[in-house]
Amino acid sequence: MTIRVMSSRDLLSLNKFTIDDGHPHIELDKAICVQCVQKPCLLVCPAELYTRDENGGVFLDTIGCLECGTCRILCPNGGIIHWEYPRGKFGVQYHKG
Ligand code: SF4
Ligand code: SF4
Repeated sequence: MTIRVMSSRDLLSLNKFTIDDGHPHIELDKAICVQCVQKPCLLVCPAELYTRDENGGVFLDTIGCLECGTCRILCPNGGIIHWEYPRGKFGVQYHKG
């Protein structure tokens, strides 16, 4: 038997995501995010979905969201103005944990 060791990134790439067009399950207030100095969301998202934008704020692509809620808990300034689990049949489907 061969045991294949897979990295976290490889495992995450096996997940499937069903997009709920027009109904993002996380929304940001860009004006608040521009003022946020530490921007912990850039560091804590396990799927690395938060990136800096050209205006000094952050951009979030919800495709790939693992629905862990970490960003919601650790956002210090209320920039996440909407966070909910995707509606039924949408969002992440885990394949290998
Ligand atoms: S931590 Fe919250 S307020 Fe700060 S940049 Fe990220 S989402 Fe915006
Ligand atoms: S819920 Fe988790 S995976 Fe989704 S954007 Fe927030 S930190 Fe990233």
